Amino acid sequence: MRIVYVNGEYKPENEATVSVFDRGFLFADAVYEGIAVVDGKLIDFPAHIARLERSCKALDMPLNYNYEQLLELNRQVVARNDLKEGFLYFQISRGAADRDFAFDNSALTQSVVIFCQPKSIINNPVVETGMSVITIDDLRWGRCDIKTVQLLYPSLAKMEAKKQGADDAWFVKDGIVMEGTSNNAFIITKDDVIVTRPTSNEILPGITRAAILQYAGENGLKIEERQFSKDEAYQAKEAFISSATTFMFPVVKIDGHQVGDGKVGEHVKKLRALYIEESIKRAV
Ligand code: PLP
Repeated sequence: MRIVYVNGEYKPENEATVSVFDRGFLFADAVYEGIAVVDGKLIDFPAHIARLERSCKALDMPLNYNYEQLLELNRQVVARNDLKEGFLYFQISRGAADRDFAFDNSALTQSVVIFCQPKSIINNPVVETGMSVITIDDLRWGRCDIKTVQLLYPSLAKMEAKKQGADDAWFVKDGIVMEGTSNNAFIITKDDVIVTRPTSNEILPGITRAAILQYAGENGLKIEERQFSKDEAYQAKEAFISSATTFMFPVVKIDGHQVGDGKVGEHVKKLRALYIEESIKRAV
């Protein structure tokens, strides 16, 4: 049985509870991070904490832990569960109070939950097979840059993809690809340029996305942060998604159109190997 951190205690998962009045439950008034663990170490941890701080600030939610405390809590959950490979889920909600749209931070005690899930990341079978995506209208709210637990639409979009026999969905606005349901979207052009749309309040600034762009840039690969349409994606040489819990997965089909020759491309493989090498070096 997993051990979960909840509000200052480490508990077996069946005893780990939060209030039914928790604003995370009633209003999706909570922020979170998903952090990869490889060889028992946390990947891209400082960047995840920086984004958590940013999310809290954007929602006027205090963050009552400093970096060292957060690192210790996360490491404890990894150690107590003997997690070798998988991810940590770390959520902070504003806390419990009588149900009211208005909130008073000074009268609330936050709920903090950390749990982990084993998952094969490095050698996940999708790295070899690639995945298929459909495109779907982006009907989410206007602050997709804040990592909140308000994930109903992305969840429904993923189910629509499954219903259509695909693995995931890419959100599209006016023909432009925004991002995946829980990942950032990239293409590689016929001229070997890695393209991903710039960050804004319309997408989540992915930690993995930023790290990939950094390592690709340092290794002299061509990068363009610009918008691309779904039609351009259909014509791309390669495509992929990035996220903490996949690192990068190749995309070999978009809306039924085969990407390139329909097989996992060489660029994606090399870029993923580069990301793995660099991020493991920096793991804490
Ligand atoms: N975009 C969305 C909407 C996400 O939910 C996620 C991760 O959950 C990402 C992108 C990828 O971000 P990261 O690389 O930080 O996991």
